Amino acid sequence: MSSEFRKDLLSDKWVIILNDDNNFIPDKDSKFDYKSLPVLDANCPFCPGNENKTKFSIYELKKGNNWQVRVIPNNKPYLKVETNLKRHTKDIFAYIDGTGANEVIIETPIHNIDFDEMEVKDISFILQAYKERFLDLKKDERMEHIIIIKSRGIKAGSFIPHLHSQLVAFPVIPPMIDEELNEAENYYKIKNNCVYCDMIKSEIKLDERVILSNEHFICILPYASRVSFEMMILPREHKSHFYDINEKEVMSLASILKEAIYKLNKATGYSAYNMILHTSPIKLSKLEYYHWHIEILPKLKNFSGFEQATGLFINPTTPEEAANYLKELK
Ligand SMILES: [Zn+2]
Ligand SMILES: [Zn+2]
Repeated sequence: MSSEFRKDLLSDKWVIILNDDNNFIPDKDSKFDYKSLPVLDANCPFCPGNENKTKFSIYELKKGNNWQVRVIPNNKPYLKVETNLKRHTKDIFAYIDGTGANEVIIETPIHNIDFDEMEVKDISFILQAYKERFLDLKKDERMEHIIIIKSRGIKAGSFIPHLHSQLVAFPVIPPMIDEELNEAENYYKIKNNCVYCDMIKSEIKLDERVILSNEHFICILPYASRVSFEMMILPREHKSHFYDINEKEVMSLASILKEAIYKLNKATGYSAYNMILHTSPIKLSKLEYYHWHIEILPKLKNFSGFEQATGLFINPTTPEEAANYLKELK
C-alpha cells in the first residue's frame, strides 16, 4: 500500500491519500436503508397528511393542489430568529445571543425517495425553494451567512429518512467559509484569478477526476478528497453567490445532482452522506475570488481519533481510482 500527502488548494489543508486494495468497502453500519420504507408513513412528521405535526409553513411550492416542497421552522432550533443581535462581554470572553434562522426544507411529499429516483423537474423545485429562502433571509439585516446541509442516514446525523435539508442563517460567518474565503482571496492576490475557475480549467485539461459535466455544471472528485467518493459540483461560469442562479442553471444543476447521487448511491450501496452548499456571505457584493459550490461527503468509514487529533483526514481511496470507477458505473 502506498500513500501520499496532498494539499487542498481551497482550504490549504493536507490530506493523506492511501492506495488501499480494500478501499471501496464501506462499514456495515454506514448503509442507509430507506428504500424498504413505505411511500407514505403515518408517523413521519414530513409526510403529507401530517402537516399539523409541524409548525406553520414558511414557504410552499405547489404542484397542482398539493405541496411539492415545504419549508418549516426547525422544531428544536439552536438559533432563533426572534432574538436581538446583542454582543456581550464577560471579562476577556465575548458572546452574542443565539440569533439566526433554522429552517427545514421538506424536499418531496414521497417518504422513501432520494434525488436518484426523482424527476429532474422536481429536484429543480427544491433548488428554486433554496433560492427563494436565500433571497428572503438576505433582507434580514442581522444575517451574514446562509448554509444548506442535507444529511442522509443516521451516520450522517439524520434520524428522519424523509428527504429534507436544513437551512441555517447565521449572524456570523462560519469558520469553514471564512477559511475558504481567505484561501481564495490569497490565491487571487497572487494569480489574479479565481482558484475555483482555475481548478475547473485544470480538471477539464487533466481529465482524471471529472465524473460528470453538462452545459452549466461540472462534478469532480477533489484532488485532496477527504473521504472516498467525495464529490464537488461547481458552476462552470464564475459566480460567487448561489442566489444568482438562473432558471436554465437550476435545471442543469438538478440534472447533474440526480446523476451524482445515482452514482454515489450505486457505488456505496446506499450509504449515509452529507450534501453541503457553500456560497459567499449574503451581505457581500459579487466577489471575483470566491465561487459557490456543492460538496457531497459520503459517510463510509468510522473515523478514528486521528482526524480530531491532527486535523488530517486519511482517505483510503485515490480520487482518480474512485473517478474511474464512477465514470464507468451505469
Ligand atoms: Zn415521510
Ligand atoms: Zn470562479
